[in-house]
Amino acid sequence: MTETVITRFAPSPTGFLHIGGARTALFNWLYSRGRSGKMLLRIEDTDRERSTQEAIDAILDSLQWLGLDWDGEPLSQFARANRHREVAQQMVDAGKAYYCYASQEELAEMREKAKAEGRPPRYDGRWRDRDPSEAPAGVKPVVRIKAPLDGETVVDDKVQGLIRFPNKDLDDLILLRSDGTPTYMLAVVVDDHDMGVTHIIRGDDHLTNAARQTLIFQAMGWDVPVMAHIPLIYGPDGAKLSKRHGAVGAETYRAMGYLPAAMRNYLARLGWSHGDDEIFSTEQLIEWFDIDAIGQSPSRFDFQKLENLNGHY
Ligand code: GLU
Repeated sequence: MTETVITRFAPSPTGFLHIGGARTALFNWLYSRGRSGKMLLRIEDTDRERSTQEAIDAILDSLQWLGLDWDGEPLSQFARANRHREVAQQMVDAGKAYYCYASQEELAEMREKAKAEGRPPRYDGRWRDRDPSEAPAGVKPVVRIKAPLDGETVVDDKVQGLIRFPNKDLDDLILLRSDGTPTYMLAVVVDDHDMGVTHIIRGDDHLTNAARQTLIFQAMGWDVPVMAHIPLIYGPDGAKLSKRHGAVGAETYRAMGYLPAAMRNYLARLGWSHGDDEIFSTEQLIEWFDIDAIGQSPSRFDFQKLENLNGHY
């Protein structure tokens, strides 16, 4: 029996749905829909200062407009903090993570030392093997992963190929902050595991995170999902697509009267190709889309091309 494909789209609700996010959602949707799989939605709302209900509504609204439906209820990452803490505790109990009581002054010293030696800062592991009974009074610890000190962590990415990260650069990253809140890195891994995600398709700005997340998956003995990190979208001038290039919100295109089918066609072609074909029905996209055919070079947003394509629908 082959495993059911489960993808997810995991936006941070800090604003409208960016065109890059819309493309990520589309790729996840196409991949799962073409394989009788599921696409789940996770709202990454752990940043309480910047996350808003208004942004959640705007993102869901844009996805609906684009015709990208999801399975089940959207899941709130913030609401899962107890589960994230539980996993951190399991890691401590299994000797895969530890309490670190290093003070801010000590951490600053480590940074200074690294700077003086011309190397990237790394936590020096001073609490890795110490007994918490030695803990200074009144200090609330963080929980850190016990990352391997040497060797490398390999991310076998469907788009980028084999990417090797020397473990000495990955650090004993923090899983729980001293106030007990889970870090983003821990939350993502626990959620992807619990949701049964089989394929992670997202922007390649998350590639280094992928290595750190792999360490957490491995420490828990969990399967690492298949990963596909897609090159970001650039503007016609080669700079990262931003407001100064023109509209970057999916909602703006809707307001301008663009058709969802044209948007799907256009966005699918930003990074993915199928021979020289340019015009695709949604059924064809679902049938032909594959992460193996996503290119490694960044795509350029071409407003004129979108305009022309819109004329076909
Ligand atoms: N919330 C992240 C973002 O909006 C995505 C994280 C992920 O896909 O793992 O960039």
